[in-house]
Amino acid sequence: MKNIVLFGPPGAGKGTQAEILKDKFNLVHISTGDVFRFNIKNKTELGLLAKSYIDQGSLVPDAVTIDMLEAEVEKNPAANGFIFDGFPRTESQAVALDVFLEKKEASINGMIALEVEEDVLVERLLKRGEISGRSDDQDEAKIRNRFQEYNTKTAILKDYFSKQNKYYGIHGVGSIASISEKINAVFETL
Ligand code: AMP
Repeated sequence: MKNIVLFGPPGAGKGTQAEILKDKFNLVHISTGDVFRFNIKNKTELGLLAKSYIDQGSLVPDAVTIDMLEAEVEKNPAANGFIFDGFPRTESQAVALDVFLEKKEASINGMIALEVEEDVLVERLLKRGEISGRSDDQDEAKIRNRFQEYNTKTAILKDYFSKQNKYYGIHGVGSIASISEKINAVFETL
């Protein structure tokens, strides 16, 4: 089993690249943002709770997010490996993930991080907002708050995984295919 965290700020291209990587290596892709949006659309209890945070561009509380993530993993007992996209986003989520996987005699093999400059990200997110209709992509104040959350709570995970010698940074600007090739090359070494 090979498990990776696909990491990077909002708009770095994690979702796009996860879909390509998933097909190539037969992995299960879990995007916590997608699971939240699915729940919001279906007006579940989880969706109602998450909506208030997502609408502000704030992180959903750890306890809720961790429980949800673990439930998603449990739905796939025969998985070849997982791509965690948008999780972990805080140090306590990272610790919880390590503990959870250890109980399954598994671990994170590597964090593959898409590194993209912030002005490129804002442009990409606003464009994505026009196409997808995602409300948190359409409002510059919400986008700024997501970067603020990323910079204060999430970016430190680079250190967390670096300390375990598991951090692999990739420049995330260029064609989708060229970035995908770089990700594949790292993935094969893990
Ligand atoms: P994303 O699709 O990954 O950009 O996530 C969209 C929104 O969902 C984020 O801005 C957060 O409000 C929420 N979210 C997604 N993943 C997490 C997470 N791991 N922890 C807390 N909130 C999350």
